[in-house]
Amino acid sequence: MTVETGMPYAEALDRFEPVLGLETHVELGTRSKMFCGCAAVFGAPPNTNVCPTCLALPGALPVANVMAIESTIRIGLALNCSIAEWCRFARKNYFYPDMPKNYQISQYDEPLCFDGYLDIEVDGKPVRIEIERVHLEEDTGKSTHMGGATGRIHGADYSIVDYNRAGIPLVEIVTKPIPGTDRLAPEVAKAYVTELREVMRSLGVSDVRMEEGSLRCDVNVSLMPRGASEWGTRTETKNVNSLRSVERAVRSEIERQAEVLSGGGRIVQETRHFHEDTGTTTSGRSKEEAQDYRYFPEPDLLPIAPDRAWVAELKAALPELPSAKRQRLKAEWGLSDLDMQAMHNADAIDLVEATVAAGAPAADARKWWMGELARRSNETGVALADLPITPAQIARVTVLVASGALNDKLAREVLEGVLAGEGSPDEVVEKRGLKIVSDDGALSSIIDEVLAANADAAEKVRSGKIAAAGALVGGVMKASRGKADAARARALILEKLGVSE
Ligand SMILES: [Zn+2]
Repeated sequence: MTVETGMPYAEALDRFEPVLGLETHVELGTRSKMFCGCAAVFGAPPNTNVCPTCLALPGALPVANVMAIESTIRIGLALNCSIAEWCRFARKNYFYPDMPKNYQISQYDEPLCFDGYLDIEVDGKPVRIEIERVHLEEDTGKSTHMGGATGRIHGADYSIVDYNRAGIPLVEIVTKPIPGTDRLAPEVAKAYVTELREVMRSLGVSDVRMEEGSLRCDVNVSLMPRGASEWGTRTETKNVNSLRSVERAVRSEIERQAEVLSGGGRIVQETRHFHEDTGTTTSGRSKEEAQDYRYFPEPDLLPIAPDRAWVAELKAALPELPSAKRQRLKAEWGLSDLDMQAMHNADAIDLVEATVAAGAPAADARKWWMGELARRSNETGVALADLPITPAQIARVTVLVASGALNDKLAREVLEGVLAGEGSPDEVVEKRGLKIVSDDGALSSIIDEVLAANADAAEKVRSGKIAAAGALVGGVMKASRGKADAARARALILEKLGVSE
């Protein structure tokens, strides 16, 4: 049964309760692959980072990458997991052209890390996401289907395969089923993947670039009628590759399933594909059961038995995790939950932190990143962190403002110059002549012109209506194209007109 349009979200939620599950794959940033010495890098010419082991030539044997095991244990510890005292790799048997061995070395019933959790916050409320397992496996190669209109295998003339990615260490993080999210299901899914990505980033184990596939998410959704106790059949939407898509995929799958179930249909357990353009999912293949993979322990690799002292050492050396860091910075910067959440959503916390470290007051650093630069980021579609300006440059601008060399308006022009590639803040000030005019000589001649041109206002001030001085200061600002030191100009105007405040 194909359903083109789903039930409106609000109605779907009136009738059904969703249960989520999230499987996230993270490509580790190790220098070499999981079971051979090939470089594990993104973007090399096709089939250049390959060897007999990752091409599965006869007789080649795998050797496990200890850095990958270490990174996986650190991920498990950061996610509050237990670390296995003894576990094995397993062969997961299936055929796919981009997997040269016809099996993937993975972990099955003996994952390296298990039974953890990650706390997130959604809509101001804490939500605990339970982690079922964190296991280690190898990535597959990459197939590209040529000649078709859609880039999919259907309708393609032929396919080509790049094995550079085959054998790159991949960590799979699987949540336990997540019931009780109700209407917030899409937001919970997105918040979880966002937080997970930040944990990975703080551990330094992966570059977690969703657009390059180093963090990929499969979204499981099932629905049950409100008040029911038995969960429905779930679908698995594969490789959703942006945070926004995680949210959209959950929403669209809820709407679709609700429509099917309300029409008396049943949900097929299958994998589905998410389409960025329409925001909907379409049917992929019917989902294999575990027995279809004929798992068995990998005979070419030794079991992993991490030494307890080593695990304790890794635990003690974990960095400050993102949620703890946010709590600390919030207190240090004296911000409200709302302000902190806004910065978190804008991905601005690390940038503000770096700007403060470079010498800016926290309030100023936040003002520029969340104001002028956020606006620029929105206009251009370039992420804040990718704007061509550094935290150190922002810090320099705040110092120039604090010293009175720039006012806010001039500072904005300086930022504009830096963003336009005109050099450092000081170079832009120099080139564009943006320094505030505060020396009395230069101001004095501008003021004389303004007084001559505004005789009426000058007379009012002279006769005691000091409020009229505002218009004269405005005239000086205009004549100096915003560069006059307004306070100094006002003092000089009053002095010239022989009045005091
Ligand atoms: Zn290799």
